[in-house]
Amino acid sequence: MANIILLGPPGAGKGTQAKRLEEARGMVQLSTGDMLKEAIAKGTDLGRQVEGIMARGELVTDEIVIGLIEAKMKDGAKGGFIFDGFPRTLKQADALGQLMTRMGATLDRVIEMQVDDAVLVARVTGRFTCGTCGEVYHDTTRPTKVPGVCDVCGGTNMKRRADDNEETLKTRLMEYYKKTSPLIGFYYAKGQLSAVNGLAEVDSVAEAIASVLDKA
Ligand code: ADP
Ligand code: AMP
Repeated sequence: MANIILLGPPGAGKGTQAKRLEEARGMVQLSTGDMLKEAIAKGTDLGRQVEGIMARGELVTDEIVIGLIEAKMKDGAKGGFIFDGFPRTLKQADALGQLMTRMGATLDRVIEMQVDDAVLVARVTGRFTCGTCGEVYHDTTRPTKVPGVCDVCGGTNMKRRADDNEETLKTRLMEYYKKTSPLIGFYYAKGQLSAVNGLAEVDSVAEAIASVLDKA
């Protein structure tokens, strides 16, 4: 049982590894990006509120995502939580710390997925996911075995994100460097940070994360 954060820029491989950890360790992925996208798809008030912000690649307010995380954490997770895309600001990191304390839980490890910016354009412009089970694929690095059919669930409803284009990625990266990258120093100073090479193959990244968790 471990609660961890996967930290890294858009396209670093956080969602891919979170899915692996769910399967391998019974952990539960909490992706604020997915929660917000679900709200947009359902056409809720929240969805309407965040749609434009997300399309531009900017961050939504801290209050919104902290509320989403708080609600999901109430359900608990036997194998532990994987925070994916949260926290993204120091304020969110503080709020997560307080939530953990209130629940009597601990944040066991923050895993920084290190990648070069140069690979990120190709990573996000080639990304697609299964609309049924959420499995993450890539046109060249991780295509489905049968074109258009999910390897995991057999679903045929593949989706591409509206914000996965080169222009929006620039804003998303700026937001990451300005607001999220200070978390690396924050968690390093607390002795909670471990870095893995996110440029390696998916299986090797998974092994590196597993070895961090087994030592945690
Ligand atoms: P994030 O959740 O950090 O934004 P994803 O897990 O969605 O990133 O990965 C972004 C894209 O890169 C996806 O298309 C995914 O299939 C691909 N990808 C993820 N990890 C790797 C890797 N280690 N090597 C090559 N491609 C990868
Ligand atoms: P992601 O799926 O993690 O790439 O997130 C997609 C978009 O959702 C981001 O570009 C932000 O607009 C928004 N978002 C997701 N998580 C957060 C967060 N923790 N704080 C602020 N905005 C977020």
